[in-house]
Amino acid sequence: MNLNTLYQLSYGLYVVSSKKGEKLNGQIANAVFQVTAEPPQIAVSINKQNLTHEFIRESGVFTISILAQDTPLEFIGHFGFHSGRDLDKFQGVNYKIGVTGAPVVLENTIGYIEAEVFDLMEVGTHTVFIGKIVEAQIIKAEEPLTYAYYHRIKRGVTPRRAATYIKQEEGKPGTEARAKYRCTVCGYIYDPEVGDPDGGISPGTSFEELPEDWVCPVCGAGKEAFEKED
Ligand code: FE
Repeated sequence: MNLNTLYQLSYGLYVVSSKKGEKLNGQIANAVFQVTAEPPQIAVSINKQNLTHEFIRESGVFTISILAQDTPLEFIGHFGFHSGRDLDKFQGVNYKIGVTGAPVVLENTIGYIEAEVFDLMEVGTHTVFIGKIVEAQIIKAEEPLTYAYYHRIKRGVTPRRAATYIKQEEGKPGTEARAKYRCTVCGYIYDPEVGDPDGGISPGTSFEELPEDWVCPVCGAGKEAFEKED
């Protein structure tokens, strides 16, 4: 069995948000899909350990912000690689409170959907929430960010808690002259052959040559958070 086959499935990338009382939280998810047209319903798979899961169960509402293709990795890292238990993810982010009372992220968003939980299915580590769509708006007619684009072009990574995380086989010993380094915070891998074009680092720059103030393009951690890949 080759689980990499699952990477051939296509997805978008979304911020799924909810609330609990006055508290707001949101997270990155890619497992979002429409399940029926009449009435319009949407499903999302959320890890039970995530704060957003607790909020959706409590409030029975969630919103989905559809991210634009040019969404910066830092923005995805902010919602995808930090926990709302440690910080208020909505501070400094452009959002509004929707008709469900849950927050709707408007930054880097081409459209959004609001839903009320109609049913749910527990599937081991995750819960699939099925929501009746109560509001939906297009913000701008731009290309959505697809999961494939995120992985292949932006070289983003998948956190272990994601529904679509795939355990990789143990890496074979590196043969490249220049080592890759892994961010211990989010799992992003710095590959010298690729560099970090978004961060102004040209291909061919070794990890050692990176400026001391360079930070992980996904989660913002400093160089000291990186470990050499075996
Ligand atoms: Fe990182």
